[in-house]
Amino acid sequence: MTADEATGGLAAPDSGFAGADDDTAEPLLQVRDLCIAYRSGAHRSTPVVRNVDLDVYPNESVALVGESGCGKTTLALAMVRLLPKLGMITGGSLRYRDRDGSVSDLLSFGEETLRQFRWTEVAVVFQGAQNSLNPLSRIRTQFIETARAHSRRMSIREIEDRAVQLLELVRLEPARVLPAYPHELSGGMRQRVLIALGLLLDPRLVILDEPTTALDILTQRAVVEVLRDLQRELQFSMVFVTHDLALAAELADRVATMYGGRIVELAGVREAFYEPRHPYTVGLIRAVVPLSGGMPDVVSIPGTPPSFRALPNGCSFHPRCPYAQDVCAAEEPPLIEVGPDHAAACFFADRVSKDKAVSREDA
Ligand code: SF4
Repeated sequence: MTADEATGGLAAPDSGFAGADDDTAEPLLQVRDLCIAYRSGAHRSTPVVRNVDLDVYPNESVALVGESGCGKTTLALAMVRLLPKLGMITGGSLRYRDRDGSVSDLLSFGEETLRQFRWTEVAVVFQGAQNSLNPLSRIRTQFIETARAHSRRMSIREIEDRAVQLLELVRLEPARVLPAYPHELSGGMRQRVLIALGLLLDPRLVILDEPTTALDILTQRAVVEVLRDLQRELQFSMVFVTHDLALAAELADRVATMYGGRIVELAGVREAFYEPRHPYTVGLIRAVVPLSGGMPDVVSIPGTPPSFRALPNGCSFHPRCPYAQDVCAAEEPPLIEVGPDHAAACFFADRVSKDKAVSREDA
């Protein structure tokens, strides 16, 4: 199966992300050795994100991919200090480059600083547009209240003008959408309203959690096109969480594959799909049903993702991995460079081939 087939026939764009093209580019967000745990009792906690390093450059788009429960949403929310109550950052650092070039330690921000930071610097578009909009407020009111809650600088007129501009950019009719209640809009329209709302205060980093989940295939396509056009027009960075490899191929400059709370592969989108070097990334690609017909080469990854409460020793993928050797159960492989702008956490990355199915029987 080709990578195009693996991604449902959607072409992976050239790799080479905005930051990588410019040697002088500094990361907008720098994540170092980040560890996150969830409290699971009075004195107990369960690690769910482990020692993650990731840079997000200006105007680039990074996809966090992996099966449910691999830690990708938790990582994305932690990047903007939006972890749920039971979540806690237990180690590492988050550094954000301000508009004036100075670098802030996000972990030192108090509640008021965070309130300003969210929406004006970063925005989050959650999955499930129905639940993220206030069902009792018209869309116009939601734009005004959002702007007023996070910035006093804009007049009502300015907010409305900006809302009209953004709704047009997401290909909605402002005259129809602004006076409407959320339930009067389709799921795809609500999702685009949420994206427009997220961009209201001109954030530099937008986090999207499964932005096309629960949308039909045509609406997914429209949302992807809208996001790509918006990023080109408004120049922001995106980190999006998805289990949809077609979306990653279409929208990402770089792809970070997560497994067991770690990034196990980080590569430009072309390398991720054409030259994957981690068996788990290969497994994800080979498990996709192509849109372009047939499923003879579709191979699911055997077994199930591990529980964070009982992560396998060594490489946490080893019980499912066709390349596993004794060392894999004894030691955890570090994430190391395997090519230009390409890193993988696998002792046998040089043997990995995208054409080999991830099946113990095939090993
Ligand atoms: Fe498979 Fe071993 Fe590589 Fe882990 S380190 S992915 S178990 S070959």
